[in-house]
Amino acid sequence: MNNLLDYTLEELKVWMKENNENAFRAKQILSWIYKGINDFNGMKNIPKSLITKLEENFTISLPNIIEVYKSEIDGTEKFLLGFEDGNLIESVLMRYKHGNSICISTQVGCRMGCKFCASTINGRVRNLSSGEILSEVLVVQNYINERISNIVLMGSGEPLDNYDNVVKFLEIVSADYGLNIGQRHITLSTCGIVPKIYELADKEFSTTLAISLHAFSDEKRKEIMPIANKYTIDEILKSCKYYISKTNRRITFEYALVKDVNDTKEDAKSLGKLLKGMLCHVNLIPVNEIKENTFKRSTKKSIDNFAEILKSYGIEVTTRREMGSDINAACGQLRRSYINTHEIGGE
Ligand code: SAH
Repeated sequence: MNNLLDYTLEELKVWMKENNENAFRAKQILSWIYKGINDFNGMKNIPKSLITKLEENFTISLPNIIEVYKSEIDGTEKFLLGFEDGNLIESVLMRYKHGNSICISTQVGCRMGCKFCASTINGRVRNLSSGEILSEVLVVQNYINERISNIVLMGSGEPLDNYDNVVKFLEIVSADYGLNIGQRHITLSTCGIVPKIYELADKEFSTTLAISLHAFSDEKRKEIMPIANKYTIDEILKSCKYYISKTNRRITFEYALVKDVNDTKEDAKSLGKLLKGMLCHVNLIPVNEIKENTFKRSTKKSIDNFAEILKSYGIEVTTRREMGSDINAACGQLRRSYINTHEIGGE
């Protein structure tokens, strides 16, 4: 049976027509689902005969909430979600003054191999479908019974390594029949898969693009990010400029600061020279230490120095406020520790 969360309005209309039903029913059905109704019998304006057909052909499949961890410090909630095939992912809900924001996963595991990241340690298990990505937002929204207004694709997985499903997700989540979350309120973070950045730019979504840069030179980047062997920083910046020209959106560069690896004044100056004059913003992320490697977080002083130097090049800089530090907030940590303590295979 097919999961209705995987359907765009157009696709469901086609199904209606093929099954001798009125196409306008498609919008009614999807509207119920995105209002939080996941039982066909709760869809008040749908005739009984169609409900029977729907039950025979479709599921509305949401993951199970396996555990919820709530930070005592800032109210951040981390959800461990389980799919029917036993795979686990994590999503994080952050509460800000401007609304609720969710950080979601796009793959089970990841195959990008970044040295500092917990999600990638045992590689990629599988892609999530567009409906599964959507279901992270839906299940958390239903659980808290409040609207989620911002989404960041910064959980486990590389969104541009699951391009088709992620693009379909972006279309449905921002549609008026879907969750109606504006594309401007969505940020897609990538390690820099250049051809896919061009493809995404051509979609002309107004989604914010965030690039995990983490180094100013290809040599340095290769030490921590294997993808740097495939695409150079120069190629990434060219694709970013194309993205800006197509969308008019400012690019975010993420830079995880690792003590003595990429956090010196020289690093900051070289990064400043590289990005000077570009429509961008740098988000400094004090690296989350994980037990599987020896990377250490930069000191507060070197983080502040780094930010000041970048600012002197006219670059806008923010330092990421750490959310949920008491609940294993770094990417992939929760799933890993759950798998380790419960001795689950599947990776
Ligand atoms: N694959 C995508 C999105 C998921 S990772 C990407 O690479 O952008 C989201 C962000 O968290 C990336 O910037 C990633 O480099 C960063 N990240 C991963 N592990 C981290 C850690 N231990 N500490 C700080 N940031 C980390």
